[in-house]
Amino acid sequence: MELIDGRGLALKLKEDLRKKTDKFAEAGRRRPHLAAILVGNDPASESYVRNKVRSCEQAGFESTLIRRPSEVSESELLGLIDELNSNSEIDGYIVQLPLPMHIDEQKVLLAIKPSKDVDGFHPMNFGKMALGMDSFLPATPYGILLMLEYYNIPTEGKEVVVIGRSNIVGTPMSILLSRKQKVGNATVTLVHSRTQNLANHIKNSDIVIAAIGIPEFVKPDMVKKGAVIIDVGINRVEDASKKRGYRLVGDVDFEGLTSKVSFMTPVPGGVGPMTVLGLLMNTMKAYEM
Ligand code: NAD
Repeated sequence: MELIDGRGLALKLKEDLRKKTDKFAEAGRRRPHLAAILVGNDPASESYVRNKVRSCEQAGFESTLIRRPSEVSESELLGLIDELNSNSEIDGYIVQLPLPMHIDEQKVLLAIKPSKDVDGFHPMNFGKMALGMDSFLPATPYGILLMLEYYNIPTEGKEVVVIGRSNIVGTPMSILLSRKQKVGNATVTLVHSRTQNLANHIKNSDIVIAAIGIPEFVKPDMVKKGAVIIDVGINRVEDASKKRGYRLVGDVDFEGLTSKVSFMTPVPGGVGPMTVLGLLMNTMKAYEM
C-alpha cells in the first residue's frame, strides 16, 4: 500500500504559494488576505481555524481571525459579514461551521459575497461548480482532486463510491468526479444513511471516499482488493494512553486495510491538510480576480 501523504503535498504546495506571494510583496503589492469568523469555542473548530491561520503564514498570506462569543446575535454576525463583503483589503473569508443553534446557518452562508466565498458553499459557487463553470470549489473535494492528480491515480471510467452526502464534502465530491474533466470522468455512486446493500456498492468500487463521521466504519471485508481509499473522517475516540485523552481516527479501519488496498490517506495527515490547501488556492484565486 502506498500512503497518500496529504501533509507533505500540502507543505510542498504551500511553499509554491509562498514563492508567488513573496514575489507580490517584492513588487510592492499586498499579499493575499484570508479572514475567518469563529463563533464560540468548540475545540474542533478552534483547532481547524488555528491550522488555517498557521497555513496562511506558511504560504505568505495575511490572515485575520475574528472571534465572537457563542451568544453573538444573528444580526451582529450578518453585520460583520457585510463589513467583510465591502472590505477591499480582504480577498476571501470563511465562517467556521457549525454555528450555534440560534443562528440560521443558511442565512449566514447566503449573505457571503460569492466573489469572497472561498469555502465555495454559496449556492452561486455550488451551482457553477455543478455546471462545470469557473468557481471556487469546496475546499475538501478540491484538496482530494489535487491529491488524486498528484499521485497519478486514474479516475476515468473507474467506479467510485462516495460515502456520505453532506453539502460540503460528499455531494460536491460526487459531482466533481463525475464531470468531464481531467480528474473526473468516473462512474460515481453516492451512498448514505438510507442506502440498502451499502457493502455491495463499496465492494464494487475502485475508489472509496469515506465522509461519514463514524470511526473506522469501512472494514477490510467491505472493499475490493487494490482499491484506493480516501478517508475524510476526523473522529475523536477516547484514549487514556494519550495526554489529551483522545486520538483521531478516520472513517476507515486504517490498520486493517493496509494489506488490502493500493493507496490510502492517513488520519491525521491526509485529507485535512489538503482541505486547508484548497482554501488557500481559492484565496489566491480571489486575490487574482
Ligand atoms: P455530515 O456529518 O454532514 O454527514 C454525514 C453523512 O454520512 C450523511 O450524509 C449521512 O447520510 C452519512 N451517513 C451517516 N451514517 C451513515 C451510515 N451508517 N451509512 C452510510 N452513510 C451514513 O458529514 P461531513 O460534514 O461531510 O463530515 C463527515 C466526516 O468528515 C466527519 O468526521 C467530519 O469531521 C469529517 N470532515 C473532515 C474534513 C477534512 O478536512 N478532513 C472536512 C470536512 C469534514
